[in-house]
Amino acid sequence: MKLAKSVERLKRSPTIAAGEEVRRLLAEGEDVVRFDIGEPDFDTPQHIKDAGIAAIEKGHTHYTSARGIPELRQALIKDQERKGIGLDQSNLVFYPGSKIGLYSIFSILLDPGDEILLQDPLWPTYASIVEYLEGVPVSVNDWEDEKSQGRFPVERFEQKISSKTKAVLINSPGNPTGAIIPEKRLEELLQICKSKQVPLILDRIYSALTYDGMEDRIPQYDIEGGNLIVISGFSKEYAMTGWRLGYTIAPKSFTDRLVQFQDNTTTCPASFVQYAAVAALEGDRGWQKKMNAEYQERRDLMVSEINKVPGWNCQAPMGAFYCFPSVPQDSQPLSEKLLSKYRVSSVAGVFFGNHGERHLRFSYTTSKERVAEGMKRIREMVAAGT
Ligand code: PMP
Repeated sequence: MKLAKSVERLKRSPTIAAGEEVRRLLAEGEDVVRFDIGEPDFDTPQHIKDAGIAAIEKGHTHYTSARGIPELRQALIKDQERKGIGLDQSNLVFYPGSKIGLYSIFSILLDPGDEILLQDPLWPTYASIVEYLEGVPVSVNDWEDEKSQGRFPVERFEQKISSKTKAVLINSPGNPTGAIIPEKRLEELLQICKSKQVPLILDRIYSALTYDGMEDRIPQYDIEGGNLIVISGFSKEYAMTGWRLGYTIAPKSFTDRLVQFQDNTTTCPASFVQYAAVAALEGDRGWQKKMNAEYQERRDLMVSEINKVPGWNCQAPMGAFYCFPSVPQDSQPLSEKLLSKYRVSSVAGVFFGNHGERHLRFSYTTSKERVAEGMKRIREMVAAGT
């Protein structure tokens, strides 16, 4: 069968590929400490599951509006208001996962040769989608080394904005670095984007996962001004990865185009998932505090153990659930050795961009006991020096 040339531009997700190799080893009975997984190990809370089951039983098993059921739209508007973001129903679309939301945004933005400015290191899916759609990802190094936590070089983005730039995309808290861009710097970037008439796309999927009392806040903005498009979802904040639910917040005219795109692709997210999401938004949040406290303890343990490894260095990430230590070797052979000989899985930093090289991404989506076990194996590897 002869396939389209465009297929060659679609990259395999290195994070998903890493997981597949680990699953193969686990099926063979190997004891692998999993630091590769980019999803919460916490189960979806019971009240959310119950709402999903009740929705199925009530017959909510049909198509819905591409914009989502009205109850969900209202619940999200209230949730965003609490977070300081004002919007109305005409600014919202829900998708089966934020990945397809991103794909939709790029699909309606990009003509061949158009550029999207991206952070480096960054979640590789962005560049893959941009290239697939014949756009050009332009990397901006915002990560000189692990000391970059809490800083953000707005000037470098400004310098790279050209007549070809269609949008700037920012992920904060970031995958793979866990870095949070300070509100003030975001405000500066927003102003620059505004003056150059380039929209800023903000991926906030990890915004609820922050530590040490940090809050991931975004500046006040005029949603209809067309300067900011927010993409987010329920996967990480509500431990709902498998339910598949994401959303965009964008100006009305842009949102109408996104709806048109959705009419031609996924139609809508599963209807009972939307009812479960209403329960997530309206229900008790105490469990989230506990989840974040547990992540923070694991993070602290992982960071302190990493910093005991000679030649490895890691500043405490402020958000998400990833550590991104610098290591004194090329990341891919190191990550492979760690898995094949010591049975610790990770994702090689090079997959996240040029400036990710000589780093490894470790997720702390596993218990403290397993974090300690994984770090013990890493110390053994480094001590063996092979
Ligand atoms: N954005 C980032 C930065 C991510 O890390 C991920 C998932 N790994 C997503 C978006 C996609 O999430 P989902 O499709 O589950 O909503």
